[in-house]
Parts: sequence; C-alpha cells; structure tokens
Amino acid sequence: MKRIMLCFVICLLVIAVRGQSAGNYAIVIHGGAGVMDQKSMTPNMQAEYLAVLNRVLQVGDSVLANGGTCLDAVEKAIIIMEDSPLFNAGKGAVFTHDGLVELDASVMDGKTLKAGAIAAVRDIKNPIRVARAVMEKTEHVLLNGAGASQFAKEQGFNPVDNSYFYTEKRRKQLDELLKKEREAGVNDKHGTVGCVALDKYGNIAAGTSTGGMTNKKYGRIGDSPIIGAGTYANNETGGFSCTGHGEYYIRLGFSRDISALMEYKNLPIQEACRAEVEKLSQLGGTGGVIGLDRKGNIAMEFNTSGMFRGYIKSDGEKKVMIFK
Ligand code: ASP
Repeated sequence: MKRIMLCFVICLLVIAVRGQSAGNYAIVIHGGAGVMDQKSMTPNMQAEYLAVLNRVLQVGDSVLANGGTCLDAVEKAIIIMEDSPLFNAGKGAVFTHDGLVELDASVMDGKTLKAGAIAAVRDIKNPIRVARAVMEKTEHVLLNGAGASQFAKEQGFNPVDNSYFYTEKRRKQLDELLKKEREAGVNDKHGTVGCVALDKYGNIAAGTSTGGMTNKKYGRIGDSPIIGAGTYANNETGGFSCTGHGEYYIRLGFSRDISALMEYKNLPIQEACRAEVEKLSQLGGTGGVIGLDRKGNIAMEFNTSGMFRGYIKSDGEKKVMIFK
C-alpha cells in the first residue's frame, strides 16, 4: 500500500514539475500576416475573415475536447482554411510569376519530432493532408513537385486541376505586382495559414500551409515546408507556425531558433517569440509567428500591421483578432 501511495505521489510531482495540468488543451491559429489597414478592409471583409477564424477554432476545440489528438486538430483546422478562398493556402492561394499556383505545407509532431512536408505541388487540394501522410507513411520528411503528386495519388488523394485554386483577387494581385515589378522591382504580398495545438495528453503539433509569395519564380520554395523555419514542434518547448517573407525565416532557422531560446535560455514562449521577431526586423524581414507551449501559454507575435489570428483554451478563454 505504501508503495502504491509513493508511486501516486511521484506521478503527481512529475506532472506538477513538468507544468502540465493533465487534460488541459489549447489551439492557436493564424491566417497570414502583412500590411492590413483597418480603413482599407471593409467591415464586411473583416467579418468574413473573423467568421472563418471562429469556425476553425470551434472545430479545433471540439476535436480536442472530445479527446482527439493535436495532429487531428491541426489537420482539421488547416483544411478549413485551405478550402476557404480568403486565405493564401489551397483554394485562393497566390499566383506564381507564370500564373500558376504552387503550394507548400508541413506538419510536425512534438512528441516524436517526426515531420512531413510537401513543396511546389500544383494538383493537391489539401496539402496539409499529404504532408501528414509523408510524415506517417514514408521514411522521408520533404517531397517536392511531381514526386509529391505521385505519392499523393498512390495514397488515394484525387488530383485537382490547377485552375481549382484560382481566384479573381489573387490574379489581380499578381497583375498589380507584375506591373509594379516592371516599374520598380517589388514583391510584398503575404498570407498563409497555420495552427498549433496542445491536446489533453500533453502533446503538441504544429502545421503550416501556403501558396507562398505572389510572383515567386523558378520553383521557389518558402519557409512553410521547411522544418525549423516555418514550422516546428517539440513537446519539451512548444509548437510554432510562421507567416511572412519566407526567405528571412529560412535564413534565421526561425521556429527552431525560438525553440532553442526556450530550451537553452529558459525564455518563456512569448519572450522567445518576441526576441525572434526582433531578429527578423533587424534583418529587414516582415511577418509573424504563433506559438503554444505545454502549459497552454499562447504567443502571437508579428512586426506587420496585422495578422489574422486567434486561440481558444479548454477553460473557455478565446480571442480572434486581425490588427495590431
Ligand atoms: N511564408 C510564406 C512564404 O514565404 C508566405 C507567407 O507567409 O505569407 O512562402
């Protein structure tokens, strides 16, 4: 009897020391960061975005409340945003220089440090699903282009025509950028979706999905499918999903660096994210990051004027926001 009591006390202590109150869960999402002017976004437009973000949180919350895993929550949340034409992921993704849509996505499991990603795919309706299949069904982490499409077909995902992803809004953005490029040489369009979830079992997963940047050229691949840049998850620190000018995120090893700041410097998640965004600013990059640690602490940091974002926790605390 004494032994059983001792075991029980030790278990409680381990849980307390690790800071996990068993059963708590949380989910945080983003729908891209960028130049968002409160005046130029009509109230209707704002309401549309907020409605989708709310729906995503509601679905994520119900997955986690019903005992679903963080990976299921991340996948389900991201699929909704991929299917919405509002975001730069799946349907509604931005156009490449050649007027096509090429998608990147990744997912990481913070318990096992397993990860899966696909890059530059043109015919996969929900890239996040295939990224997860890469993680769970292959010995690889990142598949690109034709190989990724072949793998998706073999896994039973029906290909879609590239035109499925097209929207008038994104075509206009490309045309405007091409015009500006001819005049000055700029590229400044953001927008991506991401999710980090902590489940009742204390596990963390993160995922990101994107069309990349408008007017991207030569098979350009951004940070979103690069583990440690746009996506990272580790139960010991936290999970992260990024949005912004991908080249800077790759150069900084952005999300892995946040995890390292937490691991080696013992920084709380918000401070670590803020410090990393500061590094981004110093390099001249723009964007944001969402993060979630094993205690359910949330970070949503960015250096742009806005980031579509929100979170919900098992105690009912919830926020959905667009502007700074
Ligand atoms: N990070 C994405 C990329 O560079 C774009 C974005 O988040 O807006 O591909």
